Amino acid sequence: SERTLVIVKPDGYRRGLTGEVLRRIEAKGYVLAELKVATPDRERLAKHYAEHEGKPFYQPLLEFMSSGPATFAVVEGHRCIEGFRALAGATDPTAALPGTIRGDLGRDWGEKVQANIVHGSDSPESAEREIGIWFA
Ligand code: ATP
Repeated sequence: SERTLVIVKPDGYRRGLTGEVLRRIEAKGYVLAELKVATPDRERLAKHYAEHEGKPFYQPLLEFMSSGPATFAVVEGHRCIEGFRALAGATDPTAALPGTIRGDLGRDWGEKVQANIVHGSDSPESAEREIGIWFA
């Protein structure tokens, strides 16, 4: 069945929201196939975020994502890519609807990067590419 890569980003990890995010994934009915805590290194972050290279938030994004531990999960279930993105809510946590992870637990902290608690792959191709980067 379908797989997606979920990251509880360093802001979520620091705030102690890892369990809450994993709880929502399991409560939805998806399965945690793999799980680990690690501080993302810049080399793998550059691969992961290659599509954003050159954008104004790219360097701050790599800085933020390498600032401390994060939790990586391979999540499994039919249509879990779309399903997790619905659970996560909009990229901007101020605009994200209540009921979503970002809408319930996130806010704007006035920094250059939107610290928005979670990442979720946006297509089957990205999911397999990203799982290959972080679970090689
Ligand atoms: P993700 O891929 O992290 O699940 P997303 O698909 O909603 O979220 P992307 O467009 O892939 O977001 O951007 C990657 C990350 O870069 C975002 O999650 C956010 O942390 C940051 N980001 C994206 N757009 C902006 C922006 N305009 N200003 C600041 N930070 C941004």
